[in-house]
Amino acid sequence: MTRKEFLRLGAAAAAGTALAGCPRAARRPAPAASSGRTAVTVQIHDLRLRQSWGLSRGTWTTRRNAFVRIERDGVAGLGEAAPIARYDETAESAAAFIDKARPVLDRDLHEYALRLAEIEAVAPGEHAAKAALDMAVLDWVGKRLGVPLWKLLGLAGSKEVQTTYSIGIDTVEAMQRKVLEAPDFGVYKIKVGTPDDRKIIEGIRAVTGKPLRTDANEGWKTKEEALEMIDWMAGQGVELVEQPLPADRLGDYAWLKERVRIPVFGDESLIEPADLPRIAPYFHGVNVKLMKCGGVQEAVRLAAMARTLGLGLMIGCMIETSLAVSAGAAVAQLFDYADLDGNLLISNDPFRGVRTVKGRLVLNDRPGLGVEGELP
Ligand code: MG
Repeated sequence: MTRKEFLRLGAAAAAGTALAGCPRAARRPAPAASSGRTAVTVQIHDLRLRQSWGLSRGTWTTRRNAFVRIERDGVAGLGEAAPIARYDETAESAAAFIDKARPVLDRDLHEYALRLAEIEAVAPGEHAAKAALDMAVLDWVGKRLGVPLWKLLGLAGSKEVQTTYSIGIDTVEAMQRKVLEAPDFGVYKIKVGTPDDRKIIEGIRAVTGKPLRTDANEGWKTKEEALEMIDWMAGQGVELVEQPLPADRLGDYAWLKERVRIPVFGDESLIEPADLPRIAPYFHGVNVKLMKCGGVQEAVRLAAMARTLGLGLMIGCMIETSLAVSAGAAVAQLFDYADLDGNLLISNDPFRGVRTVKGRLVLNDRPGLGVEGELP
């Protein structure tokens, strides 16, 4: 089945037409396990950052995310959208999409894979909102069945995954301080893509000998500059570099891939699963984020596709509360690297879920996403 056919099937099911020509299905009573309508609440909330968050493309002190709560049969499911401005998403546009998708949520939520296709068919884009709905549905199903998400997906609750701790762009002194304030982590992800990148890495190296990964967020201008920096960073104990050049410069990435000594991972170059076959030849690996691909189910699908294409895998996040980070952590064991620290950068996280202990993600046995707390 092509992706188009898959989506069309989803659209037909959303419109209720998929069952119309199927008398047996029409005669079947609605499953007793899930009946009635789903109550949907959407809220937008400003998250305060512990420290300013600097990337090559800007600096933030707050982030505005949208949250969804669904309730049916006395069971609630929660989801979070951390919209990505680069893809023209805002908390408001995410909330509007969730509103539009309400009719899908009145169908049987146990059939979460089918609901995902229907949600995808509601409108293009709005990946963060789709991730929030996927999360909320999976949280609801897990709680309804009394099963943690990792178990629902056939994964291990005992598997602890190491996460990087991200250091945003700041003065070298402030970046050094951020590293020293997070001594539990075994590896740091340093944001670069500035004219001072050598000073930044030398400054970090002066305070830690631990492995580093760097993320230029498309900040380097030419392939020659990128190669020079990557080569130099390889000598500084940097394990891999993320998105050195603008996302669409695939020809330059081909040139780089032939020459670099350490892996180059794509992040901004990969949004949804359909992008993967096109960009796969140009990178050693990819950074998958729930907010880019549209949720946990799509991330699992992307991981399988990426493996087939011989790519390394990282699971990343945006600035997200423990709600969304817990959803990512539930599937992190499918990836080679995890960068799931968005919740640690927030000072008003309303949720408690996955714990980060000595730089490792520790899952819990609670059903669904395993998250405690309510909408802010
Ligand atoms: Mg990145």
